[in-house]
Amino acid sequence: MDSSGSAVAELRAALHRIWGYADFRPLQREAIEAVLERRDSVVVMPTGGGKSLCFQAPALVDATPVSTPVSGRRGFALVVSPLISLMKDQVDGLRVDGVDAAYLNSSLDSSERDAVMASLREDRCRLLYVSPERLVGEGSQGFRRFLQQCGPRFIAVDEAHCISQWGHDFRPEYRQLGRLRQDFPGVSLHAFTATAGERVRRDIVQELRLENPLILVGSFDRPNLTYRVLRRGILHAQLKQVLARHDDEAGIIYCSSRREVEALAEWLVGEGHRAVPYHAGLADEVRARHQDDFFDERVDVVVATVAFGMGIDRSNVRFVVHAGAPRSLEHYQQESGRAGRDGLPAECVLIYSGSDFLRWRQMLEANGELTEGARTLLRDMERYASSTRCRHRSLVEYFGETWARSECGACDWCLRELDAIADATTVARKILSCVARVKQSWGIGHVTDVLLGKTSEKVVTTGHHELSTFGLLKHESSHAVRGFIEQLVAEGHLLRDGEPYPVLRLSTAGTALLKGDGECVLYREATPPSSRTRGRTRAAVGQLADPELFERLREVRLRIARERGVPPYVIFHDTTLREMAERRPATLNDLHGIYGVGIRKAESFGDEFLDAIRTFRRQ
Ligand code: ADP
Ligand code: ZN
Repeated sequence: MDSSGSAVAELRAALHRIWGYADFRPLQREAIEAVLERRDSVVVMPTGGGKSLCFQAPALVDATPVSTPVSGRRGFALVVSPLISLMKDQVDGLRVDGVDAAYLNSSLDSSERDAVMASLREDRCRLLYVSPERLVGEGSQGFRRFLQQCGPRFIAVDEAHCISQWGHDFRPEYRQLGRLRQDFPGVSLHAFTATAGERVRRDIVQELRLENPLILVGSFDRPNLTYRVLRRGILHAQLKQVLARHDDEAGIIYCSSRREVEALAEWLVGEGHRAVPYHAGLADEVRARHQDDFFDERVDVVVATVAFGMGIDRSNVRFVVHAGAPRSLEHYQQESGRAGRDGLPAECVLIYSGSDFLRWRQMLEANGELTEGARTLLRDMERYASSTRCRHRSLVEYFGETWARSECGACDWCLRELDAIADATTVARKILSCVARVKQSWGIGHVTDVLLGKTSEKVVTTGHHELSTFGLLKHESSHAVRGFIEQLVAEGHLLRDGEPYPVLRLSTAGTALLKGDGECVLYREATPPSSRTRGRTRAAVGQLADPELFERLREVRLRIARERGVPPYVIFHDTTLREMAERRPATLNDLHGIYGVGIRKAESFGDEFLDAIRTFRRQ
């Protein structure tokens, strides 16, 4: 097939027929053409950018027989993917779309495995997903020979950054993929990743032995995501504010320790949320159940440790909260990027404190991983968190793009949720002075009380109500004062340490500031629980022409998903149901015109949705 206009037209038609999409997303066409032309490629696209389609479409559209080694075969696309859950997800999705796809990994029993092998032998399989262990692990030579005989059309390596030690997710078994080039001569290799770094990209090219690859790097901006950063205050209160914007919507909360994961999940359940914990300490079957519950929408919120949260995914995740800073912006990008993969508005909230970075340094040091590189990554993360400029801009520039717009309209800074207070240095001096007056031996709660002028029992018994700093900030709220103190800790003016209760002390910089040397900036988080901030995500996601019809359609979707044993979003995304509720199609043909409704889906269960719409209309 050449890459002329007709091939593109044919692709576009297939896109509509099979998936129900109107057009390509940026770079998809180029990436697909590279595959069709058998030219090696590296495709870097953000999470949710639509990488899977780049290897799925050519596997289905290209009907020219494969050249090696048995003639006349249609062959198959070989997809290497590290995650069992994502493999299953994609294969389920393809099957619902009427595509012959299969996967091979450790989750299959021997009869299932035999069935897949037979479908390959008989040339019935169009896409085969395999784990790297299975493909290039120990004793896999025979398997590769078998595959070679079945006629691989091309090889796609998903999550290709795992091959690089510079990536944030290095997996040793990925290194072995280098042998694919010699074991599958003449088969083009296509690497896909959401990690943009130049060095990682070079590593991928080198390790996979790509020849003159086409390199495609997409834009990393995710305009549908609203980014917010909060200094950690009272975590439960902060989470409540986020959750209030997302009634019954899917979300992920990342924590840094198992203990915190457990505690938060329990608290959420107590608050009436459908939440589960997810971390490496859970028994396999419990973890698998929690993951399934999330996939199948029986659960809304997963509280996970970052190290283990990679398999937690769902296209309609409406919020991702980090209760603690990750160790790099690459991690942050990847983890927060799980929000809004369906393209609808979603929110990413980073709740951090200065001590997160200290903890990371200690932990990396203990593991002998505190390299110069790791330090730089941490500093960049810290800069993002404490910076006071557009978050979209910061992220995009960090990943090497230029930012052309002035404001994004979708971050705490551009939404004016962070107000720099006018007399910050004066306020800071009042606080520092109070810390000095209480002899640098009290914690944040007590210092706050003194500044607020509270005559608590402790304040009175210590005689601190007689200090000159008593009540100096009495016009402020306690959250605000705490916030200021935490900012001073984060900026290094105050130290907060000590056992068993951390106490506040002045640092050298703090002492200097107190003496009149230097200036500082303090921000007030202007995030009321509802109102303005609720606006953005809610307005767009919640503005349904007919919430009731949407709910009915969701029920239909759930029923079909249960019958077929797949997660609901494999049937249709929320985006599709919303459009259905709005346009209320009456015929199968109308239905096929809706985003995400491929011909096969329309035929297999379109009628059930049409019925629901009809019934709703009559009422
Ligand atoms: P990635 O692997 O890059 O994170 P996916 O391949 O999972 O992203 O795609 C993200 C979402 O975008 C999926 O829900 C997919 O159905 C949708 N999608 C992909 N390509 C298109 C397209 N051309 N038009 C509309 N939606 C698309
Ligand atoms: Zn912005």
